[in-house]
Amino acid sequence: MTEPQAKLAPALGDMSKEEFRRFGHQLVDWVAEYLEHVEELPVLAQIEPGDLKAQLPSAPPAQSEPMEQIIADVDRLIVPALTHWSHPSFFAYFATSTSAPGIFGELLSAAFDNKAMLWRTSPASTELEEVTLDWLRQMMGLDAGMHGIIYDTASVSSMHAIAAAREGVELRIREEGMSGRQDLPLLRVYASEQAHSSIEKCVITLGLGQRGLRKIPTDSEFRMDAKALAAAIEEDKVNGFVPFCIVATVGTTSTSSIDPVAEIIPIGEKHQMWLHVDAAYAGSAAVVPELRHILQSCERADSLVVNPHKWLFTPFDLSVLYCRHLNLLRRAFSLVPEYLRTPEQEQVRSGSDYGIQLGRRFRALKLWMVIRYFGHEGLAARIREHCRLAKLFASWVEADPNWELLAPAPLALVCFRACPRLEARDETARNGRLDVLNEAIMHGVTATGQALLSHTKLNDKLALRLSIGNIRTTEKHVRQVWDLLNEQLKLLQSRTAENPGRTT
Ligand code: PLP
Repeated sequence: MTEPQAKLAPALGDMSKEEFRRFGHQLVDWVAEYLEHVEELPVLAQIEPGDLKAQLPSAPPAQSEPMEQIIADVDRLIVPALTHWSHPSFFAYFATSTSAPGIFGELLSAAFDNKAMLWRTSPASTELEEVTLDWLRQMMGLDAGMHGIIYDTASVSSMHAIAAAREGVELRIREEGMSGRQDLPLLRVYASEQAHSSIEKCVITLGLGQRGLRKIPTDSEFRMDAKALAAAIEEDKVNGFVPFCIVATVGTTSTSSIDPVAEIIPIGEKHQMWLHVDAAYAGSAAVVPELRHILQSCERADSLVVNPHKWLFTPFDLSVLYCRHLNLLRRAFSLVPEYLRTPEQEQVRSGSDYGIQLGRRFRALKLWMVIRYFGHEGLAARIREHCRLAKLFASWVEADPNWELLAPAPLALVCFRACPRLEARDETARNGRLDVLNEAIMHGVTATGQALLSHTKLNDKLALRLSIGNIRTTEKHVRQVWDLLNEQLKLLQSRTAENPGRTT
């Protein structure tokens, strides 16, 4: 049977329903093939900066182009320029993944194209969001005082949390702003040195300036030092600052360390400060009953962010802010012009009252579909397996004298480095040589196209990070990256042996 000839876009209106079905089926098949064979593609895009741009026309097409050609160009131009986050050997940053029900949720949401700004512009989105986030709250073991709201990213969720905290300080900042005010003391937020850079960006965005964030030292396991926090707040008060918000991290970006929330809580309470918990990465792990303890004491936090787009198999983007004081969030952001007034506004929740965005995507749909398809137990099983694989990898590192762990691995992230015996003047020189070696190992593994790792610095040492979070990652992939790491180490060592003048 010959394929029907593609038609161009009609003079007016959308694609015909026959064409939509034809290309829709073709694209679903395309996605199925992609996910089945993504493992055969290099994880990191193998192109140089500017390569894709050079192949794209600089001006838009004046006339309709056939869908066949557009889809062919996805294969020819776009796929080679992709870094494949869906690859099971993507172990960099925080490995995340989409899933089939999540993809279907995105597809439907694009078809509905709702702008959930007011309840009436999308009752389904508004009410499904409330129900789905309450399910997630229960799955994570959070108390019923926490009310969820969806934003795009954790950076934005945390910004809204800190804005609500600032609203609670009662300094009429919403009405009078912060600039040019003699009566305004210096406001301060506290987070550990290991907190995500987004917290600093939030403070910048909210007009508090970088000096509005005080970074608290961490202990030997990269957790906030609660005593240092207490001392910093006392000192700042003496110096005229108004400490108003603490950000504790459950699952820091570099090492997944967990700040001692139980010790931080009384400090915040003593000074009537807002406690925001950044659990963007690790919060999802609380759906596993035996890992629920990571959110211990969060029942006394004022807000908490968790990203289902990180470790709950939900396509990017979907971040959830749980907040105990929605009234403050609303006070900080609600502004209803006449053209948005509705008769039911006092009885319902309208998304635009809780943030800077007016229109909001129908994101709850994909999370609802993910939770229903996998079920609480299915989600927990997948996260539990990721943690098992990370522990297995960490056990290989620990057992091998050529490698060492550089931080505890409480969840599914392992920080480690190669540490073979090598000649060096002193410890600093040795660490310098090991940094060079480990960076070369990381780039060597990446160059094979078979796996992707990332790095961080811990106590001034370059640490490799292996993060497991993809739904398709299995023990085979973890063994394979361990072999690749060892091959690279051997290769670099043999090069150094042949040419002792080289650092690696
Ligand atoms: N907080 C933590 C602990 C993170 O690890 C990250 C990203 O990795 C973020 C916040 C920022 O996440 P997003 O990209 O959703 O803004």
